[in-house]
Amino acid sequence: MAFTTAPHPETWLKVTPAGLFCEPGGFFIDPLRAVDRAVISHGHSDHARPGHAAVLATPETLAIMTARLGEGRAGATQQALRYGEVITINGVKLWLRPAGHVLGSAQIALEWQGSRVVVSGDYKRRADPSCTAFEVERCDVFITEATFALPVFRHPDAMGEIARLLRSAALFPERTHVIGCYALGKCQRLIRMLRQAGYDRPIHLHGAQQGLCAVYEELGVALGPLLPATVARKDALKGAIVLAPPSAIADRWARRLAEPVVANASGWMGVRQRARQGGVELPLVISDHADWDELLETCAATGAEEVWVTHGREDALIHALGLQGIRGRALNLIGRGEEDEEAPFILTA
Ligand SMILES: [Zn+2]
Ligand SMILES: [Zn+2]
Repeated sequence: MAFTTAPHPETWLKVTPAGLFCEPGGFFIDPLRAVDRAVISHGHSDHARPGHAAVLATPETLAIMTARLGEGRAGATQQALRYGEVITINGVKLWLRPAGHVLGSAQIALEWQGSRVVVSGDYKRRADPSCTAFEVERCDVFITEATFALPVFRHPDAMGEIARLLRSAALFPERTHVIGCYALGKCQRLIRMLRQAGYDRPIHLHGAQQGLCAVYEELGVALGPLLPATVARKDALKGAIVLAPPSAIADRWARRLAEPVVANASGWMGVRQRARQGGVELPLVISDHADWDELLETCAATGAEEVWVTHGREDALIHALGLQGIRGRALNLIGRGEEDEEAPFILTA
């Protein structure tokens, strides 16, 4: 696509203190503070903040936001837009495409006067049985995340990681396997992958994981038998798989389980010090973000002449894109990634 007659996206999509702002449309994308009109890519807390007057998102993201933020705080008015449905806001065409990150996650496609931008939000290209797979949308400017934008990040096959977990569970039938995973997305993906691998026993959930599992079930993502992980009855958890927030696996809660095998599921588990730092015995490299190869492949596949990079390691990605003839630009959006479900976690044991 060419910029010859169409206005350059820089002239109509701007970085402001409140976040990315589509000027002719009069709306923000994943804004950092409460605004009049927000388009939200997905339910993670660094993208979906409370208090907007109007929120537009997929029906799944709206349901997730309402469950997490509470009725009324997830947009005084909500407008649901399904993947592929096109609307026009003040002359700006807008539609959503699956991002493959968590349930309901969307890339936001914008077109104004013949110039097209796609804002990826967070995304991955790997199979995830808990959400719709990423779809490539052609554009002039692609705005990408860069959480794992270093050549050292090459995520292994996630089902292989699940197989390692199940081998460990078979090897230590007396011990409780407790897996640190974020409550939105990672938890449900692990459950669906365990089911795919043939694990049909009840999976036990820490209290913090139960709410969003119920939301996923209501939205049609079947998770199979789930039970609360009641530490008071720890003998009942012998040999069980327990899913807990990453912050819980290092604290007293986990130590009360029967001889726990502490696992953690995150893209960061590919970094050995990270796993060791958190006392993780069984690191599972399972990421909901694109790795280095996925980032480069995706940027090229969009056909974009320019890629704007948010929250991550901009420099390496911009350099690598330059070698492919794609112009890169660091967006310097603040506040992104800081509460992300896959922000580098620091555990104080
Ligand atoms: Zn996210
Ligand atoms: Zn993010």
